[in-house]
Amino acid sequence: MNCVVPISESQQREVLDQTEHYVQLGETLFRQQFSIIPVTFDLRGRTAGMYKVTGQKKRRGFGWAGGGETSRQIRYNPWIFAKYYEENLTVTVPHEVAHYLVDCLYGLRHVSPHGVEWKSVMDAFGVDSSVTAKFNLAGIPTRQYQQFAYLCDCKTHQLGIRRHNKVLKGQASYLCRHCGVTLQQAPVAI
Ligand SMILES: [Zn+2]
Ligand SMILES: [Zn+2]
Repeated sequence: MNCVVPISESQQREVLDQTEHYVQLGETLFRQQFSIIPVTFDLRGRTAGMYKVTGQKKRRGFGWAGGGETSRQIRYNPWIFAKYYEENLTVTVPHEVAHYLVDCLYGLRHVSPHGVEWKSVMDAFGVDSSVTAKFNLAGIPTRQYQQFAYLCDCKTHQLGIRRHNKVLKGQASYLCRHCGVTLQQAPVAI
């Protein structure tokens, strides 16, 4: 299977420009200022784009809610963009920006994700909101295999989830081929 290479830096700049374009279009359409939204290209898996809000207070009167600053972010999947560049530029980018504008205009908690508010922003953008891109994800890394650090007397080993679970259940133990010592899970920093 051919592996897809993530989009280049110049393509990333183009995606940033396109994102900014839709934010500015929103400013014209809704006569309101929206700040430039931070964009990252670190999304993995089967999703092309994601609008993410962190630090929003979930409950009132809770101990840690004090200094919670809200930060907003759009994340794009550089592999899916690489494979379907034009589609993502014309569909995924306005899709995520529309989530951002809906959040600014109404507050995400007050609307359903792809409800009438979001559809009306897509309509205002002139983008068909009924289009859900169907991507063939062959060649795109869809899963990150989790690794667990184990130590012997000479080095660090990485065990996959299957072996790690066997160790946890006491069904197996593994020896280092070099020093012959049984591997022990490395202490985890929390
Ligand atoms: Zn969406
Ligand atoms: Zn060893």
